[in-house]
Amino acid sequence: MEKSFLKVLQGYQSFREKYALGDTSVMQYLSHYGQQPKIMVVACCDSRVDPALILQCDPGDLFVVRNVANIIPPYEIDEAHHGTSAALEFGVRFLEVNHLILLGHSQCGGIQALLNSQNTNNNDFITNWVSLIKTPICDLNDTDSCAKQALNQSYQNCLTFPWIKDKVIQKKLFIHLWFFDIKTGQIFTYSNVGEEYLPLDSNEQSI
Ligand SMILES: [Zn+2]
Repeated sequence: MEKSFLKVLQGYQSFREKYALGDTSVMQYLSHYGQQPKIMVVACCDSRVDPALILQCDPGDLFVVRNVANIIPPYEIDEAHHGTSAALEFGVRFLEVNHLILLGHSQCGGIQALLNSQNTNNNDFITNWVSLIKTPICDLNDTDSCAKQALNQSYQNCLTFPWIKDKVIQKKLFIHLWFFDIKTGQIFTYSNVGEEYLPLDSNEQSI
């Protein structure tokens, strides 16, 4: 068997032992009482940026949606199939999370696709999806600063959802813009005081 596939089978066994075996397991509890996560994360599909792993969370802690380049689309009521918007609605309106973390990252292939968007013929969906982000004003070789600008655009799009905007105004929902550096494993958080990304510390404030 392939080594990588064997690894996931072994991981599954470890998961069951740690979280699911016995009458007092975490999974038994979550099954009985349901999920009540207080934090929602919008992250990229990138295999190096797993929110639960980076933040060392347990089952039930995070409500997560992942898409290419961690994009929040604008609020649009139409006949299209809005997967990320549906997840936002579930998390914010029905689970009533208190924190919404938009987790961008360095070396993002989705952002790179946005910057190479003149090559529209080599994919079916990616170029159109990332075009939700207006091309950032940045050096086309500086993917990371473009990714940070994209996070700010996603934040603006968040506020086009009326039930997100209302909760932000009422201080029932706090939005955080985080940028994860793959090489160092460090998170930087957007501060609207200096309009810059600063290392995350335990005094983290929402924007
Ligand atoms: Zn990415």
